[in-house]
Amino acid sequence: MNNMSTPAAVKIPIPFIDLQAQRRRLAGVLDERMGRVLAHGQFIMGPEVAELEAALSDFCGAPHVVAFGNGTDALNLAMRALGIGAGDAVIVPGFSFSASAEAVVLVGATPVFCDVLPQSCNLDPESVAAAVTTARAAGLRPRAVMAVDLFGLAVDYARLETVAAAQGLAIIADAAQSFGAGRGNRRVGTFGEIAATSFFPSKPLGCYGDGGAVFTADPEAAALLRSLRQHGEGRDRYDNVRIGINSRLDSLQAAVLLAKLSIFTEEIEARQRVAARYSAGLADVVEVPEIDRDACSVWAQYTIKLENRDRVAAGLKAVGVPTAIYYPRSLHRQPAYEGFPVADGGLPVAEALSRRVLSLPFHPYLDESTQDYIVDQLRIILAAG
Ligand SMILES: *Cc1c(COP(=O)(O)O)cnc(C)c1O
Repeated sequence: MNNMSTPAAVKIPIPFIDLQAQRRRLAGVLDERMGRVLAHGQFIMGPEVAELEAALSDFCGAPHVVAFGNGTDALNLAMRALGIGAGDAVIVPGFSFSASAEAVVLVGATPVFCDVLPQSCNLDPESVAAAVTTARAAGLRPRAVMAVDLFGLAVDYARLETVAAAQGLAIIADAAQSFGAGRGNRRVGTFGEIAATSFFPSKPLGCYGDGGAVFTADPEAAALLRSLRQHGEGRDRYDNVRIGINSRLDSLQAAVLLAKLSIFTEEIEARQRVAARYSAGLADVVEVPEIDRDACSVWAQYTIKLENRDRVAAGLKAVGVPTAIYYPRSLHRQPAYEGFPVADGGLPVAEALSRRVLSLPFHPYLDESTQDYIVDQLRIILAAG
């Protein structure tokens, strides 16, 4: 095959994520679920919200689940539930989406950036310890570490827990990209003191708008979170006992998520097949993700690492293959965050990754001929030097 020819079955341009394939599969269930909400008319805090919270709890094993209007609010309020605020430092990996650091600033605490591991792109426990030293030197109280499960792979929590315990840090899991993933026999939602996820449409479990949830084993934290998401309500909405926010998940979004949850396990399996096929086709020409034996990723992104990344991305675009760069700049180099402290020694791994990562089209319905086309084109571009 040369650069110009496309197998008849491959539709160009290829979507980066094809949400419509899933929608076609679920059409009947979605229409039925959403129709019920339209009929009962309880658009805010309708019965689907509690049903979803129970279903998510069953799915991942977290005793308490509280749904929110988006993942950023979920993270922000998770930190409030732990009592984190002004004067506190939260260690945040420098290689993440901005919301991981933003949520810290929004509760009045200070993010202190740490470096990540070159293979998994998840935070480096040794750099977490270095960031604690930096935080103390800056006169801050190190209170927690934000464990971001990047690209759908759960952090090595066993290793992180040892460091966190030694440093007296609570673990907040930013599981925005990893709901459905796990390690050993535990699933995301049960790692850390508290965990938050996002249901943004392109996340592994996404709705058709904004949404999020917090997972905790602590019933008091769960009760506090339920109050905070509804203006700090007490006995009812007109009894205001604290300052909260408005961040409820819509009943319609909960209905969408309930429909999608019914096929989520199958989709997670399909994600493993798609990832394995990419790795088999590419491992000899680029650095492909390697997942620890005890881990199951949900592959929020399939991200390769290579030199000449920008030239390769342009070449792929020219043959109808979209790619994305998560993330082109580490957080401590972003204008909004460059004033915050950074672990001693800086973040050389995060900076190198931001120049080398490239995420390929990925979703559980990616068919084999399309995937083979992507692999072939990538190999042709790399062979051309
Ligand atoms: C998507 C994402 C968030 C924020 O979720 P929203 O629902 O978009 O607010 C937070 N952290 C990470 C790592 C994310 O990928």
